[in-house]
Formats: sequence, structure tokens, C-alpha cells
Amino acid sequence: MSKKHTISLAFDKNHIWHPYTSMSNPLPSYMVESAQGININLATGESLIDGMSSWWSVLHGYNHPVLNDALHKQSQKMSHVMFGGLTHQPAISLCETLIDITPSGLNRVFLSDSGSVAVEVAMKMAIQYWQSLQKPEKHKLLTVRNGYHGDTFAAMSVCDPVTGMHQIFEPVLIKNYFAPAPKSAFHGEWNEDERSSLERYFEQHHHELAAFIIEPIVQGTGGMRFYHPNYLKAAKKLCEQYNVLFIADEIATGLGRTGKLFACEWADISPDIMCLGKTLTGGYLSLAATLCTEHIANVISNGEAGCFMHGPTYMGNPLACAVANASINLLLSSQWQDKVTRIESVLEQNILPLASYDRVNACRVLGSIGVVEVTENVNVANIQKRFVELGVWIRPFGKLIYIMPPLIINDEDIVTLVNAIRTVLNEDDCFNQPVGIMSELG
Ligand SMILES: *Cc1c(COP(=O)(O)O)cnc(C)c1O
Repeated sequence: MSKKHTISLAFDKNHIWHPYTSMSNPLPSYMVESAQGININLATGESLIDGMSSWWSVLHGYNHPVLNDALHKQSQKMSHVMFGGLTHQPAISLCETLIDITPSGLNRVFLSDSGSVAVEVAMKMAIQYWQSLQKPEKHKLLTVRNGYHGDTFAAMSVCDPVTGMHQIFEPVLIKNYFAPAPKSAFHGEWNEDERSSLERYFEQHHHELAAFIIEPIVQGTGGMRFYHPNYLKAAKKLCEQYNVLFIADEIATGLGRTGKLFACEWADISPDIMCLGKTLTGGYLSLAATLCTEHIANVISNGEAGCFMHGPTYMGNPLACAVANASINLLLSSQWQDKVTRIESVLEQNILPLASYDRVNACRVLGSIGVVEVTENVNVANIQKRFVELGVWIRPFGKLIYIMPPLIINDEDIVTLVNAIRTVLNEDDCFNQPVGIMSELG
């Protein structure tokens, strides 16, 4: 690495926060020079196969000519204008597409700048909806344990109380209700008891519940667990029965990851409110959307405030919308389902056999997501270093080593990713990090 890079890395370490790591004694960061296709290229010369899609966001690979072109063309027209009183074709086209491809009934779109904000918006919509109906007592959320919905305050209040570190923010967090995490596995038997155990929460609290919020099918950052579609079906029915809105947080699962365009399709349900983010722009820019039904929008609009009380500065950013349009078009015009099916079968062939390792608790695969759950916490610094040496970019947390590569990955590169995991499973110093906040996340 050049002297300049070494000095820059020292600056980074001393002055720049990175997610979920100490500022005074941070986990190492690797200097990236460029990224192309399936590869992340380090300043030290290594080229790493990307197993993370940069946290669920990259879909068609890095530095994609079509996405670059969409961004460039839009920048020649305008990079941004305020959305208050002004509108533009990139936002209109995007919202048309989202209404068209999401489950039926969702036909009002609120654009914002990140997933956490999309969740805040969804929660505010639900609360303002009941407020407008003169039922202000319905202002609590019901959710399930092991969930993850973002890092802002309202979003944090529906994250798993343990992994979401509720105790740190106890005095300021809104108190919401937590049902047990869904237990029946996606590929396993459905246990009807789960329905009745969830119903008890609706029975007890429905008079104060604005909404039920859940990540459909895949509980991501809260444990990388895939649960049974019947759970979603049951939860949706209970919402209808007890007059509670249903919010689907599809920020991680939306746009193809699980093998369906939206994970709600596994259960054939339409939520009242849906959040999208992460891969909306194919991994180019931060953009999120909260969709709701016409009914919800009308009730809010006819309420006391006369409008929905939210409006981000960069709402509907044209660059982000233009690249989102290009990315979704690329996805829909490709044989994306075949790609996910192929990735899924290569992952199954290679990841599931790792379950025989002593160190491995469980292995699971769904769509383009593969998970190896180990019996002890990983040592993030050591395991990361080994992965880089093995030519892959995989970022485990807690007891979870997982991959969800961009859809353009070929079979050989998937095998290389899984072989790297197999290799580190034999290396003691990659595991057994003392338990602490840093080992839980990031
Ligand atoms: C990542 C994520 C969020 C938060 O999105 P940000 O863009 O990081 O704010 C919310 N919900 C789910 C399910 C996510 O995976």
C-alpha cells in the first residue's frame, strides 16, 4: 500500500466513526480503491469477491454501465430540486413502477432517504391514521422479538430489545409490545400454536395498537432467521380481526432477495403499509419508500392536520430516483427468478453440508441468502482478515456468518465464498470473541 494510503488509514482510524465499532479502539477498516462487477478492489491490490452486496443493497454488481449512465444523464438535467411544490419524471416513473409491482392495494407512495426513515414514516402514518379517526389511544406498535427495523429512535423501539440494546436508551425509547419471535422455520412444519400465542397479544392490547410491524419471512440483522409463511398469514388475519394496521418492512427482502419480488408474496398477503430501501437503487444511492393504501392516505388527509406531517429535504431526489428506475428495469427485464434459483441451489449444495462441523449450530438457505450459524461469537477482526486473505468480502456478526451476493455472481464465485467459510471454520482464532456490544453487531 502507498504511503498516502497508510496516512489516510491512520486519519480514518483516529477521526471517522464506522458502524458498530469503537472510536477509540476500532476494528480495522480496509481501504477500497474501486469496485467492479462482483469484485471489491482494495488499495493493497487484492480483489475480493463480494458476498455482502454492501449490506443487501447491490443487485447488478458494482460500476454497472446502465446505472452509471442513468446517473450521468440525470445529473445533466438536475441533481436535485425540492419536492415541496415541485415534481419530476424520475420520481413519477419510480412511484408508478412501485405501485405496479408491489402487492395490490398499495398505491400511495412517500419517498424518503433511508430505510430507518421509511420505518419512522410508516409508524407515523399508522399513528396519525388512528389520530385522524379520533382514536388517539391507538398509538402503540406490536412486533416480534429478533426483529430489526433501523437505528433511529422510533425504529429502535421496535428492534429486538436485546440486540437492539434497549437498556442504553431505556429512558427515551417509546415502549412497544413484543410477541415471541416466529419459531416455525420457513422449510419446516407450521405449528398452529404460534397463531394463538400471537393472538394473546392482539387480544390484550388491540385497543392501544396502531400497527403490527414485521420483516416478512426473513428476520435479518436480528438473527438471519427464515420463518414460515403461515405466520405472516396468521398475523395479517389477526390485524384485520382486531383492527390493527399491518406494516411490512421489506427494506432487506424487497426486490427479489428471497426468490419472490416481495417476501409478502410467500404468504400471498397485501400489507396496509410497506417499507422499501436498501436495494431500491441497486446499491448506488440512499433512497427509501413507504407505500400505503388509498384509504390510509385519505383518512390522514381528512384528519385534523390535513396532511401527513413529514418532509425530508432530499425527498424524491432525482438522481436516486433515476438510478432506481434503471435498476428496477434491469431487474424486471432480466431472468432474475432463474438467477435467484440458481444461486439458491449452489448455496444449498455448498452451505448445507457445513452443518456437520462441530462449530456449526445450523445452516440455512433461502433465495440468494445463505447463513452459517456457529456456536460461539466470531472474532470479527481475525475472521475478517482471514476472509480478505482468502479473496472474499464476508462480514459476520455475533454467531452469524452469512452471504447474500449480488445476483450477477457466477457459480464458481459462490463456491469460492463458501470454501472460504469452510476454511475459517477450522481456525480457532477466528472465533470466541469475548462477549460485548461489538461482537453482537456490525
Ligand atoms: C437495513 C434495514 C433497515 C434500516 O435501513 P437504513 O437504510 O440502514 O436506515 C430497516 N429495516 C430493515 C429490515 C433493514 O434490513
